[in-house]
Amino acid sequence: MMPAPRLEIDLEKIHHNADTLVKRLARRGISVTGVCKATLGSTEIANALLQAGVSFLGDSRIENIEAMRLAHVPAKMVLIRSPMLSQVKRVIMSADVSCNTEVEVIRQLSQVAQKAHRTHGVVLMVELGDRREGIMPEDLIKTVRQTLCLPNIVLKGIGTNLACRCGIAPDARNMAELSALAELIEATFDLKLEVVSGGNSANLEWDLSGAKTGRINNLRLGEAILLGCETLHRQPLDGLFTDAFTLVAEVIESKVKPSQPSGTIAQTAFGEASAVIDRGLIMQSILALGRQDTDPNGLLPPAGIEIMGASSDHLILVSDSRALSVGSEVSFQLNYSALVLAMTSPFVARVIKSPALHR
Ligand SMILES: *Cc1c(COP(=O)(O)O)cnc(C)c1O
Repeated sequence: MMPAPRLEIDLEKIHHNADTLVKRLARRGISVTGVCKATLGSTEIANALLQAGVSFLGDSRIENIEAMRLAHVPAKMVLIRSPMLSQVKRVIMSADVSCNTEVEVIRQLSQVAQKAHRTHGVVLMVELGDRREGIMPEDLIKTVRQTLCLPNIVLKGIGTNLACRCGIAPDARNMAELSALAELIEATFDLKLEVVSGGNSANLEWDLSGAKTGRINNLRLGEAILLGCETLHRQPLDGLFTDAFTLVAEVIESKVKPSQPSGTIAQTAFGEASAVIDRGLIMQSILALGRQDTDPNGLLPPAGIEIMGASSDHLILVSDSRALSVGSEVSFQLNYSALVLAMTSPFVARVIKSPALHR
């Protein structure tokens, strides 16, 4: 018996997606950092990305980078979130490069790196409109000057991140600004920046549009590789698989019930009011799956099945005519939110398909 709930992971599809994007972007002079923060440090997925030719692996959590190191994943690893001061030592020991926005953090990275006789690469992140992380452009030169003074720290480059907090789209204006900042740094300090990282999956549309990419020579891609879509409009990308991941759950109850609740209506388990349309009697099933396992709003059910509601441990379905028998299984496609939560839930098993790619 296969465990349930489980995530079925098709490594060949992930490899194909990464390989396709690496090749398309290489034609534009852009390397790929494979962002695996949604995979909880999965060695198999990390190796599939490396075999597809990504130049770096990126993760937002040092725990995942440590896990991949322990499993001997042979990659340059980038911590793509600014290090916590409380984790500086771990960052120096496991990550080759980190993205940074605070000089205080880079100072401490330098101190620990000196003690450990290691060098650490720094990418300075610049704020270009999305108002999440980043140094304000007018402060960048000063921060570069401070960074260059620090022993055992190597300034690898600059980067920016858009479309995450406010949905600001990468475009000719903000990408030209990043290029101009790279050139300003190089002219001011007479050096060459190895990496100018233009952004994440939201950048693909612009970077593949044929527009002049300027100095941008790297993208950090997570969702586009794992789920095969761009992230400005969540459209599938040409030639990529959108179903590399499937979440499978088991039916624990199946009954004809009135669609309408009966009694006095107060709050639900999660405090929202319940909006229920009266459809008379329905074929209602319950899956052993809930918010402890995934984001129920991010699940795409198969044809003929609709998600009616969810609590911590129950997912309520209505099926058009056929009853879902107790013990049978239902498979869903997932969006990024559902994927991250399923991958990181201790209740969800992970089953890797296409073992041919195992190393
Ligand atoms: C998550 C993240 C990425 C990858 O984003 P996707 O939309 O999954 O491609 C890139 N850069 C940073 C800083 C991130 O936090």
